[in-house]
Amino acid sequence: MRHVRVRRSLPWLSLIALGLAVAPVRSAADEEDDAAEVRYRVRTDAALERMTVEVCFAGPPPRSLGPGIDRAGPALLDARKGAQALTVRRGRIDTSGLSDGDCLTYRVDLDQARRASRFSNRQGVDFVGSQGAWLWRSRRRPPDHATIRFDLPDGLRVAAPWPREGDGYRLNRSAFRRPAFVAFGRFEPIRVSSHGVDAELVRLGDGWDFTAEDTTAWLRTAIEGVSTVQGRFPVSNLLIVFAPGDGSGVGFGMVRRGGGCSVGFIVGRHSSADALRESWVTWHELSHLQLPPMVQEDAWLYEGLATYYQEVLQARMGVQSPEQAWAALRDGFRRGARGRERDALAVEAENMHRTYAYQRVYWAGTAFALEADVALRQRGSSLDEALRRGARTWRGGPGVWRSERLTALLDRSFDAPVLGPLRDTYARRVAFPPTAALLERLGVGRGGRLRAAPLESVRDAIMSR
Ligand SMILES: [Zn+2]
Repeated sequence: MRHVRVRRSLPWLSLIALGLAVAPVRSAADEEDDAAEVRYRVRTDAALERMTVEVCFAGPPPRSLGPGIDRAGPALLDARKGAQALTVRRGRIDTSGLSDGDCLTYRVDLDQARRASRFSNRQGVDFVGSQGAWLWRSRRRPPDHATIRFDLPDGLRVAAPWPREGDGYRLNRSAFRRPAFVAFGRFEPIRVSSHGVDAELVRLGDGWDFTAEDTTAWLRTAIEGVSTVQGRFPVSNLLIVFAPGDGSGVGFGMVRRGGGCSVGFIVGRHSSADALRESWVTWHELSHLQLPPMVQEDAWLYEGLATYYQEVLQARMGVQSPEQAWAALRDGFRRGARGRERDALAVEAENMHRTYAYQRVYWAGTAFALEADVALRQRGSSLDEALRRGARTWRGGPGVWRSERLTALLDRSFDAPVLGPLRDTYARRVAFPPTAALLERLGVGRGGRLRAAPLESVRDAIMSR
């Protein structure tokens, strides 16, 4: 779900160097007997250099605990049950001597842990990274139910995307299987509740040129724009973390869904309020939330949908004109079609982090989103409407989806399947989709110039609120 730039400059190499986060799929092995319920209690020092975590089990403890990110193993300093030191082997704590109801305590070097987490960032005391770098758990039987509480020194806060429970948070299985952005520091969170979402935003470090009010305005506009699709924001809880970068505007973004939805953005410290509002990365990244997590071979579909809405939402919100949005889509199709055609689109999507066939995968998927939207609108519905219906099933639910199941669900509203057959055609096709005829029927010409055409009312409705 991470964002890659497909429209302007392409810092591919730096992106690839940062590494990839690929969603795991639940397998039969996940469905073992219930794991013990686990309670975590987290303390840190004031400088956020060390973390001490107490873990208590209600039920039989697992045989060992390890980090969610294997590379974080060396960050473990020690582990004890009371005064008794527990054996640690390659970063894993041997818990075979523990009984039902027992607790243990372990300590983690946070700087080392953070370096094990991809897309982590530290600004003075403040830092963000994945919980997999400091949350030790059973690899074989991650808990179904866990709670976590943070007892931090005065002035320090945590920002996590998990549902609140009591004075802490509730962790579901995905919090132990997938990364999230979790931030610690001296920040003052910005909170906005509107369009069905409770959103929290934190900015790491000092020296931001734009104010908290500018940030709140950006967040409100983003929520409003994204909500034009389903009539509400697609998820109920959201954490956004701004890490500072050079220059101006939102430069990079990435969605993570471990236990709840979080989005990390790299934002230029010197951004103006206008530069923030006009950054297309915002619209692309938040549009990923319209769909549930999906497997890598469906990256063409979820990246295509996000790329489509990144243009559509900017037009709906007046950030760009409909002509500019159509020009961007037309340009993208042209660039996507220039890529070398090697394999079926689903295979290209599966391999894109190795082959760098991003342009082709993203823009073929965008063509799918447009073709699907037009087909649905000709039947009196729309892609917006289909997503609104589908989200009732997947919102807040567990599991990773496949496009076959997704399109079958969305097709239930129609007499005959619309999206399923289109999905099959796209997933299997080697050639770049033929977009010229569709743009012709929509009356979209060079440079996004619009003219009278059979589908002009459909065209204009897409970019309208
Ligand atoms: Zn994306």
